[in-house]
Amino acid sequence: MLLFLWYMIPACSLYKEDASWSTVLRDRHGEIIYVGLAKDDRYRIKTPLQKIHPSMIQSTLAYEDEHFFSHPGVNPLSVLRALVGQLQGVSRGGGSTLTMQYARLRFDLKTNHMSGKLEQMLRAFQLERHFTKEQILEAYLNSAPYGGNVEGVAAASYRWCDKECANLNTQESVALVMLPQRPAARMPRVGREELASTISARQRLLDKINLSDSMLADYAWQTQRMPNAIPHLARQFPAGEERQLSIDASVQQRAQETVRDYLIRQKELGVTNASIMIIDSPTREVLSYIGSADFFDDQIEGQNDGVKARRSPGSLYKPFLYGLALDQGLIHPNSLLADAPLHFRDYNPENNERDFLGPVKASDALKRSRNLPAIRLMNQVQGGGLYGYLQTAGFRLDHPASHYGLSLALGSAPASLEEVAQLYSSLAADGLAAPLQYIHHEVASNNSVKLPLLSAAARWLLRDMLVDDQRDPLLNHGSRIGEISIKTGTSQGYHDAWAAGISGRYVIVVWLGNFDNHSNPALKGRTMAAPLLKQLFATCHLTQKLPPPPAGVSHAELCAVSGMIPCQHCQHQQQAWFIEGISPIVPCDLHRQIWVNQRTGKRVASNSRDPDVKAEVREFWSQEFLDLFRQAGMPRRAIPPSNEVILAQADAPHITSPMNGNVYEIEQSTRESGLICKADAAPGVTRLFWFANGKFLASTAAGESYIWHEAEGVCQIHLMDDRGLSTSVKVNVERK
Ligand SMILES: [Zn+2]
Repeated sequence: MLLFLWYMIPACSLYKEDASWSTVLRDRHGEIIYVGLAKDDRYRIKTPLQKIHPSMIQSTLAYEDEHFFSHPGVNPLSVLRALVGQLQGVSRGGGSTLTMQYARLRFDLKTNHMSGKLEQMLRAFQLERHFTKEQILEAYLNSAPYGGNVEGVAAASYRWCDKECANLNTQESVALVMLPQRPAARMPRVGREELASTISARQRLLDKINLSDSMLADYAWQTQRMPNAIPHLARQFPAGEERQLSIDASVQQRAQETVRDYLIRQKELGVTNASIMIIDSPTREVLSYIGSADFFDDQIEGQNDGVKARRSPGSLYKPFLYGLALDQGLIHPNSLLADAPLHFRDYNPENNERDFLGPVKASDALKRSRNLPAIRLMNQVQGGGLYGYLQTAGFRLDHPASHYGLSLALGSAPASLEEVAQLYSSLAADGLAAPLQYIHHEVASNNSVKLPLLSAAARWLLRDMLVDDQRDPLLNHGSRIGEISIKTGTSQGYHDAWAAGISGRYVIVVWLGNFDNHSNPALKGRTMAAPLLKQLFATCHLTQKLPPPPAGVSHAELCAVSGMIPCQHCQHQQQAWFIEGISPIVPCDLHRQIWVNQRTGKRVASNSRDPDVKAEVREFWSQEFLDLFRQAGMPRRAIPPSNEVILAQADAPHITSPMNGNVYEIEQSTRESGLICKADAAPGVTRLFWFANGKFLASTAAGESYIWHEAEGVCQIHLMDDRGLSTSVKVNVERK
């Protein structure tokens, strides 16, 4: 009969139907960095029995229910004792088993009267009928009140003992076990002496588990606020989840402290808020995520997340434009670009500083964030250009390319800090468009064919171009000096100061500004954001060396003025990098030798016998660049005028093979086959430089011929002698 009744007991769930749990987030090393409130505003961490230290389980059973594993939910002896006590008017305490105590928590029972007590027993039978002892014990340890809004052993261990419940020792376990019976009275409070009754109760429990050491009864709580190192990021995870994130707790903490200290110093300038991200680029794992300077500061609207907000990134897109220009052979780092006033139909871009530098090296133009050279490059890059680049990189662009026009290079399309970090991580790592990772060791599933957005050579050249020259003593840890490639950005009207930096494998992006978007002239990328960026690299110990150049990047001595292959008249030379076979490296035609009659100041032909005629080297700038220098306040020496026809076309080299306009048939099969290139050069010329379709082919001695093996299709062949005079032919090569 009893057996029949036992099997008739209806089923129930182990936990309340609406039970909710804390979100628990760990860092990449397993350390808990965030515990959130459950839906009912309690801290309650679901923890399996195996992850609770045995001393906690042992002490709980010894204190609450010694016979837990041998009764069917209700202990008849203690019920009897409690009943007798009640009849005699003497409280003998409890009589509740651990199962009954859990039943009271689980079903919200009022047990201070007989009917409540009776239901508690029936519910205890119900739990015992449908769940194992271990399940009930686990549910109790996950639900018991431990004071304040802390429920369950795991949350209590953090809050009161500052450790995980797997690491509790006996003293801590014994102290915690006391709490559920009188949570309000026994809850640890700062500055309040513990009740004598609590200490004596602990002593009794210690005696019971055969540890009668009076030293252990006197436990000093290690109260600690619940971990909350990543409040902005934590909001992105559903309540109750437990995840191991890519975040590095120590990097996150150092970054947070660095940002706080930095902003204290900037307070008088009215700069009060910042967001940052730190990425390990090869894995795209996010090591640090700071949404605002202080989540809990309402004055800066700290709960807003600056990592997700989209704003104008100023010049932060420029490196990718230069990268395209490098890969398309339009420039190399030492190419001269025109920093000149430009006028387009409905757009008048100006440099931030409203001045013009004149001709400027590509790497300087990028580093100094000159707007006009960038706008010119926007007009020159082929294919999808910068817009196409951003699109392929997975960027959200709300409008067609025509909407942004050339000003895209100046940041007219808004970006979030997260998107900027993704772009720069691609630049620092493999060049692929890959999303950032927030979960440790999670690899993004992307089966599509992956091609780098920029070549390894272009990526490396960009990093080299952006290396910060100023040797900052902050960055020198002992003998190790790191190199940081930095690009800064300032939004129009000084609303946002940005800096993105790469050092070795690490990427840091910094934003400073205000969530109410008010303007502040102190918000400049170079002076406000870059110093914080450098400090972050230093304090988080993330500075590394720039890796060696990849295959395909070569270096050579180039003319320091023109950035071209030096001729015999170039006086200053400079080591420079370029991409083999792609960079537009041609002989310097800027420096040329002329003959000047010192008496008349007139330029004369080279064959003059007049003793007053002396050779001089002069810079032959194009009219465009001469105008630029003049506008920039650096006029160049004019070439002396001449009464004669100097360096007439008859003096220029003459291509004798191939012949202009001819069609050449060349055998496909033999290795020797190719287009023979030969020329007559003027007297005094020693070297000739051959080009085809805009690319450098070879240099030969005057009179020597060159066989171009790769010739095919329409070929524009260009020849220049060492004085800078040139000629060209156009032929058609058919392969048989
Ligand atoms: Zn030169």
